[in-house]
Order: sequence, then C-alpha cells, then structure tokens
Amino acid sequence: MANLILRNLIKSYGTTEVIHDISLDVADGEFVVFVGPSGCGKSTTLRMIAGLEDVTKGSIEIGGREVNNLEPKERDIAMVFQNYAIYPHMSVKKNIAFGLRSSKLPKADKEKRIQEVAEILDMVDLLDRKPNQLSGGQRQRVAIGRAMVRNPAVFLFDEPLSNLDAQLRTQMRLEIKKLHQRVGNTIVFVTHDQVEAMTMADRIVIMKDGYIQQVGTPAEVFHKPANTFVARFIGAPSMNLLSGTLDATTVTLDGGQAVTVPSVAAIGSKTVLLGVRPDDLHAGSANPIMSGKVVVREPLGSETLIYVETASGEIIAKADGRTPPEVGEIVELGAAPENLHVFDAETGVALT
Ligand code: ADP
Ligand code: MG
Repeated sequence: MANLILRNLIKSYGTTEVIHDISLDVADGEFVVFVGPSGCGKSTTLRMIAGLEDVTKGSIEIGGREVNNLEPKERDIAMVFQNYAIYPHMSVKKNIAFGLRSSKLPKADKEKRIQEVAEILDMVDLLDRKPNQLSGGQRQRVAIGRAMVRNPAVFLFDEPLSNLDAQLRTQMRLEIKKLHQRVGNTIVFVTHDQVEAMTMADRIVIMKDGYIQQVGTPAEVFHKPANTFVARFIGAPSMNLLSGTLDATTVTLDGGQAVTVPSVAAIGSKTVLLGVRPDDLHAGSANPIMSGKVVVREPLGSETLIYVETASGEIIAKADGRTPPEVGEIVELGAAPENLHVFDAETGVALT
C-alpha cells in the first residue's frame, strides 16, 4: 500500500513537450481515473509512473520514495493494458503465475498467492483452462490476476476495457470497483470514456493537450466544472452553452432573454457563455428562463430528451418519459439559479 505523488512532471519527445508540468497527490488506497480525449497524454503519464518512459523533468514518488531512476520491477507497481497479452499456450494458472516470474518468494508461497487471487477473482475452477476456453471477461480477469498476484502498492490500468463490448465493459467496470473495495490498493486508471471515469473514480483527473484541466470527485467535476472543456466533456448529453453578455448578475443572451445568475466573480460587462445541463433544464419548470419550439424528441424510456429551437440557438432539455411535449409544441424551459453556470467566453474559465 502506498501513496503516489507526481511533482511538476514534464515529458518531451525530442523538442516537443507533450506533458506540461503536471502535479497530483494520490492518497494511499485511492482510485484515481485519468480521463481525456485521445492524444491528451494519459498513457504517457501512466507509462512514466510505471517506469516505461523516462521523466524529462520533475519527480514521481511512490510510498515516499522517489522512483524516477528505478526499473519498473523495482517500483512496486503492476500494469494492465488495453491489449492484455495472455499466453494462449499456458493455462490460466500459468498465466497468473507469470506475474511472479521475477519474484523470489518460495514456491509454496507463490502457490498460495495464486490461489488467493483466483478466489478473489472467482476463477478457482478455471485455473487449468487455456485462454481459448474462456470468455472475453474471464480473459480480462486473468490479465488482472497476473497484476494482482504481485500485490503491488499501485495498480496502473491503461484503458483495459476499451476492447470489450458494451455489456461486458459495464460488468468489468463493476468488478474492478468491487475488487478495489475489497483489496484497497491504490489505483490509477486511464480511460477516454467519461462514464467509466464517473462511475469508478474516487477522484477524476481531466486532461487535455498534456495539461490537467481539473481534479475532483465525480460530483465536483459534474456540478462545478472549472471550464468549458470540462463542462462539455463530462456528462452526456453535453452541457448547453449559450453566448451572451454578463452585467452584474444578469446574463443577456444573444437572443435577447435576460437570465439572472448566481453571484459571479467578474467586474464590469463581459462576453460569457451561460451553461446549463440538459438534466437541469426542465420543460414547464416554475422558474422559466426561455421558451422555444420542440424540433426533435429522443425517448430514453424513463425520460425524453427534447431539442428546442430558442432565440439563442438550439438547446437540449429533459422532459418526462411518459408525457413529453410534442414536436412543434412551444415549451417554457426553466432551471434553478444554482444550476446555471457562467464561463468567460474568451478563456472558457468558470466565473460562478
Ligand atoms: P493518450 O494516451 O491520452 O491517448 P498519449 O499519452 O499516448 O495520449 O500521447 C500524448 C502525446 O504524446 C500525443 O500527442 C502523442 O502523439 C505523443 N507521443 C506519444 N508517444 C510518443 C513517442 N514515442 N514519440 C513522440 N510522440 C509521442
Ligand atoms: Mg493511451
């Protein structure tokens, strides 16, 4: 068990800097998820922690020990990749045991460790099978078992679920979360999928172009996005962002509607984006802020998404699943003031 500290981490390939001075404290036993679009630097960061990439500048500490110059096997970490390489000619047991190949444990202890891991992963009955006799999810569990058998201080996962079909991905997501609750190791998990990040993480690190955009609990990044990138990236469908002008606590939208917003950290008149999540924008609300015509409906069962043409552009709102408004109907849309977000239009930074 150990904490993990990234201190002013920089990575360059040749003259191109791809990770720009990132710092993060991961507590012992914490489940942290790095999320961001492809190419934002998630794998590079994880590979530096693992010792598979050199650190250009800054330091990495695991359990209070700087590991910059340690070999991967000396770092007390284990990594599970998207393309997990399990060996087709080896049994499940041999594949799991492979994780202990460089361990100096006596044979009996290794056996015991493999049994324990097989029990935790519910694979005791599968130990003699070959990978081609396993389902996709079971194969993925073998790869996790190989990492677990070493009982590392820190688990590193690089998009381990991305190759699985949707149903299996949801199931494995839950399994990994339960596993973490049981064994309690520190986990750094990388994904491009915001739902995976929201559902699994204690804390989420949102990255873009090699910069950290925000670090927070799932609730914090969802309800208090630090900027428009986070506001758009977290949550589906994305937050509506409408351009307007802020003066004191009133945003006048480009379509003319004046909307009162909670107190904002801005002085004078400013061009802004007013943000409101579809989840927070209801047809027929007691606090209407704009009206418009329903142009499309997307029924989701328990609720219906409605696309509404307003004077300030098309926006998405949620309506009742059973009795949603008709296409062509004019609806009043409202939101509670505390669910309105204001962003600086130039920098994208949150002002609320
Ligand atoms: P992610 O995992 O978030 O998709 P990566 O960490 O793989 O992103 O990549 C981050 C950036 O670093 C990208 O712009 C990528 O092109 C660049 N990069 C990654 N590996 C190398 C490399 N070996 N040489 C040069 N550039 C690289
Ligand atoms: Mg990657």
